Amino acid sequence: MTSTQPHITTAGADPRLAGGRLTIDLDALVANWTFLAEKSKPAKASAVVKANAYGLGIEQVVPVLWDAGCRTFFVALVEEGLRVKAVAPDARVFVLNGLFAEARPVYETSKLIPVLGSDFEINLWTRANAESGLKLPYALHVDTGMNRLGLTVAEALEFAANTREMPVLVMTHLATADEPGHLLNQRQFESFQKLRAAFAGIESSASNSSGIFHAVSNGGDLSRPGIAMYGGEALAGVANPMRPVVTLEARVVQIRTGLKGETAGYGATALLERDTRIAICSTGYADGYLRSLSGSGTPLRNVVHKGGEGFVAGHKVPVIGRVTMDMTSFDVTGLPEASIKPGDYIELFGHNIALDDAARAAGSIGFELLTSLGNRYHRRYLYSGKGD
Ligand SMILES: *Cc1c(COP(=O)(O)O)cnc(C)c1O
Repeated sequence: MTSTQPHITTAGADPRLAGGRLTIDLDALVANWTFLAEKSKPAKASAVVKANAYGLGIEQVVPVLWDAGCRTFFVALVEEGLRVKAVAPDARVFVLNGLFAEARPVYETSKLIPVLGSDFEINLWTRANAESGLKLPYALHVDTGMNRLGLTVAEALEFAANTREMPVLVMTHLATADEPGHLLNQRQFESFQKLRAAFAGIESSASNSSGIFHAVSNGGDLSRPGIAMYGGEALAGVANPMRPVVTLEARVVQIRTGLKGETAGYGATALLERDTRIAICSTGYADGYLRSLSGSGTPLRNVVHKGGEGFVAGHKVPVIGRVTMDMTSFDVTGLPEASIKPGDYIELFGHNIALDDAARAAGSIGFELLTSLGNRYHRRYLYSGKGD
């Protein structure tokens, strides 16, 4: 390509018909991965692309990361792994969510590598290896503090001393890395160093996005960034250094005026304190704009919070009333009348409203907002391939 203009590819709904639009900046994604890979050194960086690459699209995300030099990918499920292989056949793909017995035949044909974390799974795998004569590789998950998946540290140390069929990778997952001061971090890293010594010569991996920011020297040989690559916050309470990757916009259908004393929306929860101009947008919780983003003071499971905001014509505008399945309303009274009309777009998060600020307003996290993004959007992928 000769121009620096990003190339745009589209997916999802027809833009003329869709109620909202998602713009995914693959240049920013690649810049974020490259930054994290640099920060991971001397470890190499992989990329975590589970849950459809955090909602952004495995088929679009994996090829640009491959072009940027990423060779190892982590997914949650076998089906996600097959999708990675379809677009990056030579990629090394680890499947995080353990092993169901019926899945073994798929592994025999797909070259995916399971991450095993219990005696049950390891026995299944090694027995099948013996019976088939195929010495298929596996990774070992060790639980150093999550109490989720993995052998305990004691079990893993014994395993290292006694087993002949060693894993190709030993990994653990950090429970509190986004809170650098948490005492559990230290305990997990100490256990991880013991594991590295016991599994000497075997590739090791501990750091997720947040781990990369404070564990560079002892995070093992391979880092596993996810959320930070997609532009989300990796650390609590510090400015986010990552470039925003995703912009979500909802399309305005109608602008109406509600009169002082009337109410707006289901449950009549929003009492209008003045004549109020309301922009009704064609995006709702069925699209992943969480109902808990409902407007200020809206009761939801007894939680009262600040409520979501949109951004349009240079202004932030609050969500008014409850977010509904297919529609969300914004109070645009403060905007000059001519500055918004049907067919315009209101940003829900992106360059003007940070993903994590929108998530906080929902009582949630950026991970949930991204992985909830629905199928009804028009999707635009921007990519110049120049890393800018
Ligand atoms: C999801 C996940 C990651 C990535 O975590 P982020 O916080 O998104 O960087 C890394 N490792 C494991 C085991 C995971 O499940």
